[in-house]
Amino acid sequence: MNTVTNYFKSLLLIELFKGLALTGKYIFAKKITVQYPDEKTPYSPRFRGLHALRRYPNGEERCIACKLCEAVCPALAITIEAEPRTDGSRRTTRYDIDLAKCIFCGFCEESCPVDSIVETRVYEYHAEQRGDLLMTKEKLLAVGDKFEQQIAADRAMDARFR
Ligand code: SF4
Ligand code: SF4
Repeated sequence: MNTVTNYFKSLLLIELFKGLALTGKYIFAKKITVQYPDEKTPYSPRFRGLHALRRYPNGEERCIACKLCEAVCPALAITIEAEPRTDGSRRTTRYDIDLAKCIFCGFCEESCPVDSIVETRVYEYHAEQRGDLLMTKEKLLAVGDKFEQQIAADRAMDARFR
């Protein structure tokens, strides 16, 4: 019986018309395709993108070189060297993150006691050579300076849900 039914179905092109009906339905439906990069979809303030080192409003680096982020990093992507300044405060002399090793787990920012190392929403970056993926202290501070407003807003929103 099934064979006969299938024979008539294929003779009358039932499956074809079903497919065309479905296509017709979506021709007039609201388009969901996003024209990236001109259009972007919304994403979470907790998005873990490019890293940044932050400063206080007076321009002082937040990082106190406690090395908690370096210790907690499961990928061993962070390298820190530090020494005391003449005023007795402790600051990093080297702070590198190797993005070729980083797995963007967010442990570094979770561990930081002074909200210094953070992961920004920035995901549009690229490297043409392996060395480009080494984020030095200068590069990290520059990212922090550029996106401080968004970083501060995201962290304030995040704190409201903790
Ligand atoms: S996001 Fe994770 S893997 Fe990347 S540097 Fe931070 S702790 Fe390490
Ligand atoms: S970024 Fe934060 S956790 Fe890492 S060394 Fe500096 S103060 Fe410590």
